Amino acid sequence: MQESVMQRMWDSAHLSGGNAAYVEELYELYLHDPNAVPEEWRTYFQKLPSGGSAAADVSHSTIRDHFVLLAKNQRRAQPVSAGSVSSEHEKKQVEVLRLIQAYRLRGHQAAQLDPLALQQRPVPADLAITNYGLTDADLDTVFRTGDLAIGKDEASLREILKALQETYCRTIGAEFAHIVDSEQRNWFIQRVESVRSRPEFSPEIKGHLLERLTAAEGLEKYLGTKYPGTKRFGLEGGESLIPMLDEIIQRSGSYGTKEIVIGMAHRGRLNVLVNTFGKNPRDLFDEFEGKKVEGLSSGDVKYHQGFSSNVMTPGGEIHLAMAFNPSHLEIVSPVVEGSVRARQDRRCDPAGDKVLPVTIHGDAAVAGQGVVMETFQMSQTRAYRTGGTIRIVVNNQVGFTTNKQEDARSTEYATDVAKMIQAPIFHVNADDPEAVLFVTQLAVDYRMQFKRDIVLDLICYRRRGHNEADEPSGTQPLMYQKIAKQRTTRELYADALIQSNVLDAERVQAKVDEYRTALDNGLHVVKSLVKEPNKELFVDWRPYLGHAWTARHDTSFDLKTLQDLSSKLLSVPEGFVVQRQVAKILEDRQKMGAGALAINWGFAETMAYATLLFEGHPVRISGQDVGRGTFSHRHAALHNQKDGSTYIPLQHIYEGQPRFDLYDSFLSEEAVLAFEYGYATTTPNALVVWEAQFGDFANGAQVVIDQFITSGEHKWGRLCGLTMLLPHGYEGQGPEHSSARLERYLQLCAEQNIQVCVPTTPAQVYHMLRRQAIRPLRKPLIALTPKSLLRHKLAISTLEELTEGSFQTVIPEIDPIEAAKVERVIMCSGKVYYDLLEKRRNEGRDDIAIVRIEQLYPFPEEDLAEVLAPYQNVKHIIWCQEEPMNQGAWYCSQHHMRRVATAHKKELFLQYAGRDASAAPAVGYASMHAEQQEKLLQDAFTV
Ligand code: AMP
Repeated sequence: MQESVMQRMWDSAHLSGGNAAYVEELYELYLHDPNAVPEEWRTYFQKLPSGGSAAADVSHSTIRDHFVLLAKNQRRAQPVSAGSVSSEHEKKQVEVLRLIQAYRLRGHQAAQLDPLALQQRPVPADLAITNYGLTDADLDTVFRTGDLAIGKDEASLREILKALQETYCRTIGAEFAHIVDSEQRNWFIQRVESVRSRPEFSPEIKGHLLERLTAAEGLEKYLGTKYPGTKRFGLEGGESLIPMLDEIIQRSGSYGTKEIVIGMAHRGRLNVLVNTFGKNPRDLFDEFEGKKVEGLSSGDVKYHQGFSSNVMTPGGEIHLAMAFNPSHLEIVSPVVEGSVRARQDRRCDPAGDKVLPVTIHGDAAVAGQGVVMETFQMSQTRAYRTGGTIRIVVNNQVGFTTNKQEDARSTEYATDVAKMIQAPIFHVNADDPEAVLFVTQLAVDYRMQFKRDIVLDLICYRRRGHNEADEPSGTQPLMYQKIAKQRTTRELYADALIQSNVLDAERVQAKVDEYRTALDNGLHVVKSLVKEPNKELFVDWRPYLGHAWTARHDTSFDLKTLQDLSSKLLSVPEGFVVQRQVAKILEDRQKMGAGALAINWGFAETMAYATLLFEGHPVRISGQDVGRGTFSHRHAALHNQKDGSTYIPLQHIYEGQPRFDLYDSFLSEEAVLAFEYGYATTTPNALVVWEAQFGDFANGAQVVIDQFITSGEHKWGRLCGLTMLLPHGYEGQGPEHSSARLERYLQLCAEQNIQVCVPTTPAQVYHMLRRQAIRPLRKPLIALTPKSLLRHKLAISTLEELTEGSFQTVIPEIDPIEAAKVERVIMCSGKVYYDLLEKRRNEGRDDIAIVRIEQLYPFPEEDLAEVLAPYQNVKHIIWCQEEPMNQGAWYCSQHHMRRVATAHKKELFLQYAGRDASAAPAVGYASMHAEQQEKLLQDAFTV
């Protein structure tokens, strides 16, 4: 078969005048990149027995050898003829095709990308014609152009070279040749080569570009004059960002996009808020003057503020949202992704047609911060994809005071990390606004067509220091000597338009004056701003605003309906084979639903989700291994043993039910938790849960906890009902798997910012989760969840406790102990309760009451006082914890306990029973763990 295909090729007119060396090189080129060879050759090679793939499973040396053999036979059979002349040409032809490939791959290295022209980059040898055995003498020889998209099949080498240099080496540096998918590569080839990366724009468009640059420059000048030396992280030097964003919004609007969420760091943020979002300049001036925003206890600096507005586009009104962000650059990107995914889910837009994420990065941060890699990694996963993000790098070629060359990175470009997902990257010289416009159009079109991330690297400079109070020449002397002489982007472009007769000098000046007058009058400066926004485009948060914190909320549920729901969760599709141990769990759940077996954690938690779905609340759970649960208690996703398919019963409760999303996450905490924060702050009616594989793994996401979850409401007025489930408990598993670092959360508690709960029964986790969604208050919930209690014989509940109870912040003594006899009250949270209970029962003590504090923050002082009230003869009050003294709740919560204890009886002195202070959270030796555990229980009974 193979022989006959090649024989036919050989016999064909195409090969009869050629030679094997030519074919060999051509074939190698084809293997490297199928698009590098002319169409007719590609078709031949595709027909080879490998099935036509360039990644052939037939070794290409085998095929080459065949060609060589055939060539030899041919030579023997035929006298050498005039064909040898053309064979020399054909050899060069192959080299020309290789040259074309080289430009596509490395042309960007010779592009003029730096407006300051400080970049000293050697032109890669691959771009020299001599590298391909070609010389100046070949410049006028005509070659086939292969797939070079210049509209003709043949051209002189001179012409081909010119086309390549114009396309790839002017002010745009295109990096797309690393993309494996040939459809995408060809798409870019067509788009850039057909216009040589420089389409002709109409005078109107050019005028609009200048108007946007005038606005960008005008605002900075205005603020610089009005508030000299005040920090604003100005955009000066990177003004092209404003026309770039304008084009993204307008063009995606014409694709039918309804919402755009933008995340960005400080630089240029005020400019974007005023010139893109239409924030009233007067409001910005108020911020410069330090006016307090009502209702926020902390507030935040002006260059962290978010904003929302609606603007008009050719495709209709678009809602714009700027995410609030902290100074931790880059962490806002996964927050944006979460917010976008929430909006897409709400609009039933799985492809991401209706909501577009745009993230804006600094060059130093995008190259340095690990969360960037995590965010790229999540971009195509089921749980986190958003149909592609347009990522802009405002690349001012310096990181605060750190030089890019030696210190800021090891990669050539700041954007190289994007190649890990084969994202196309377009570097563009920010002083060429038309090039900026062109790459922006490419970016929007690519994202809309391929639904993948694309990166625009806007190479600019920073006219001032890191901020306006900084003097940059101390650390970057040469760069700033150059910048001092550099005319602004607007000036350069205005001159170009005047010279080409698109505008006259008066019109240029008029644009400047008009903008300044608008600012003087405190007017909006975005012409497309919609003054009466269509509110349908975003969520109404009013039902969740203005609620005071309350612990109690009715979370009871009808017994019959609960049982119906429970039995629905047990049915699986016809022929679905459930694994043996899982089948046993389902069987037990059936008994639990019928009231024939005590309820365990897995059942209660599942029923919390089922009842919430029944009541109209969407539920989303993500985290490492959440489908099964780290400790195998959940089994919310069933796996068919026959074909590996999955079935999620909670998605099949009733027709038209709310979404139940359950995703095992990729192995990230930082980006994933940030994503879920973004999701939760955009979806008020849902229960959004992130579960850590082990509680302490959340420390990889500490930025999200500190900067967003615990402080976002007080800084920015953004409510968040996110739930974090953190497995915690001292089971002798060593330092890394014992503690969820409770102390970290408790230390951050203030102003009722979060809730910290440690439920100890199945009914408690059920009511805690239900309360979180049903109560209109939106506060993050940090829940320490158990490990061994998932199967503990005492950690059980009854059906009635699910249907009738509510979440108890404090659980009083459960055994029938006479209050008058109690001389010692032990207070505790979490798993240690069961150890204390068993010890007391074993010892038959009736002078000890054990009280569980199930919510450590907001600390339930009143509820605790009520529980202590009957114990009038108490002499000792003890806080018992498994954690070392410097960890757990002891230091952060003792003032609450002490207050309640002394209010109960003045002479009561709060005592401690727990591990000694320790550097590590737990010991690594099982015997030592057991000894410590024994001692702390003993202490609780005796101190
Ligand atoms: P967005 O779609 O994010 O621009 O939000 C639209 C409007 O909803 C905002 O202007 C706020 O008034 C309100 N909003 C959005 N998210 C929240 C939140 N997490 N907490 C309170 N209000 C919010």
